[in-house]
Amino acid sequence: MNGVFFIPVIWQSIKIMQVYNRSPSLKVPICSFDAKTGVLCAKCEARLQSGALTQDDVDASIKLSKVASKSPEVDKFTLVKSARVDDDFVLVLRNPDVMALRRNPALAERIGNEFGQEVWFLESESSERQFVESLFHPARVLSVNQFWLPDGKVTKVVVAGRPDQKKDIAKIQKIAKAVRNIELLVEFEYR
Ligand SMILES: [Zn+2]
Repeated sequence: MNGVFFIPVIWQSIKIMQVYNRSPSLKVPICSFDAKTGVLCAKCEARLQSGALTQDDVDASIKLSKVASKSPEVDKFTLVKSARVDDDFVLVLRNPDVMALRRNPALAERIGNEFGQEVWFLESESSERQFVESLFHPARVLSVNQFWLPDGKVTKVVVAGRPDQKKDIAKIQKIAKAVRNIELLVEFEYR
């Protein structure tokens, strides 16, 4: 009889120890162990097959884990999701992570080098307006309005300045669609 009561007690203490021993480390959509080894466990493989995870989530987790092993700052990040758009990678991270990257362009560059392609960093907790502002950052967004067309909802953004900037508008539209399922209509306003 003793063992029956004893096992849950030990289990509880192990769980408590794990909580206390856990140092802040990179969180990604797959297990951290899988991200480090580059091989999916049966559970994550099943989530990939069911569509709960995408191959982009898996690839980004492995690449970001590589950067985190060399960078304590990146090791604090949380990757919420990821999407490949054309030749670029979009990483959706917690808001403080994106702020840290804006403050530290060298860190953002290091991640870009590991991915070997252009990487976009977007906040996971943001309103539609904040999301659109991040896509156009550092350009100023004058307005964001939603309206309905016969084939669905459209979000119209008016950006200050001229359209011939470095930003690839078609790509921004694809990212808005891939990450938030937003049909983005872009206009520029300048005088
Ligand atoms: Zn796993």
